[in-house]
Amino acid sequence: MATSFESALNTLPAELADAVRAQLPQPFTGHLSARDVTALEDASGLKGHELLLALLPLAASFSQAPVSHFEVGAIARGTSGDVYFGANLELAGEALFHSVHGEQSAISHAWLAGETGLKEIVVNASPCGHCRQFMNELNGAEGLTIVLPGQDNGHLHHYLPYAFGPKDLGVEISLMAASGQNMQLASDDQLVLAALEQAQLSYAPYSHSPSAVALECDDGQVFVGRYAENAAFNPSLPPMQMALAAMARHRVGFERIRRAVLVELGNGQISQASAARSALEAISPVELERVCAS
Ligand SMILES: [Zn+2]
Repeated sequence: MATSFESALNTLPAELADAVRAQLPQPFTGHLSARDVTALEDASGLKGHELLLALLPLAASFSQAPVSHFEVGAIARGTSGDVYFGANLELAGEALFHSVHGEQSAISHAWLAGETGLKEIVVNASPCGHCRQFMNELNGAEGLTIVLPGQDNGHLHHYLPYAFGPKDLGVEISLMAASGQNMQLASDDQLVLAALEQAQLSYAPYSHSPSAVALECDDGQVFVGRYAENAAFNPSLPPMQMALAAMARHRVGFERIRRAVLVELGNGQISQASAARSALEAISPVELERVCAS
């Protein structure tokens, strides 16, 4: 049974819990503006990353971990000063490679919101090797601070010495900073166009196969995910997983998906179709619509 937002709130220091109740938009989907952060600092007396450490139980309350029952909460602070919550996502009964890690959820949250870099990431458990590698792909990775409960803060490369990264494969761009890609697709279908827009913003410097997913729910809400590739390949975050993690942060059940669209290149070096279909089949009877761009 996942932890509810209310029960997570009850674990916070009283002044902070009161301030969260009074100031946060409801329902809270894990995004605090820099102004919200300042207001919570003033109300709680907790400053900087101390505030974010105290808020981690709220981030972890977005977790869906039916396999591990280990709830990871992560909070990323973007260069704008806004902060973005994330949590781990596991698909019940499915192979573990479908999982999204808490750090990946928070980072993709920031990226989808338009951030082009991160200052720090605060996590309730030490980042696994997969996440250290995923974060090494980020714009400004060398300056990224990792904040953990009860430990001195350290830069990412303290946690990932002798790193293998984009430059080792001759790639000079980086995740979150990459500029848009030119993809052409004729359609007047709004969901297809939403996926196309995200595919143009996706990051695929190794396969040169940009892609994105758009999921439409029964109430018309649309959730999107962009492909985030990695120099070490396996830690890449597929677009379907990114979109499902966004749904989890909004506490929208996967049974509410009515349409699912994948946009990718028709002649790409790789395709996300079978991986996206496999993840979708695990949580929904809806058929994936694959739409090819050039
Ligand atoms: Zn991890």
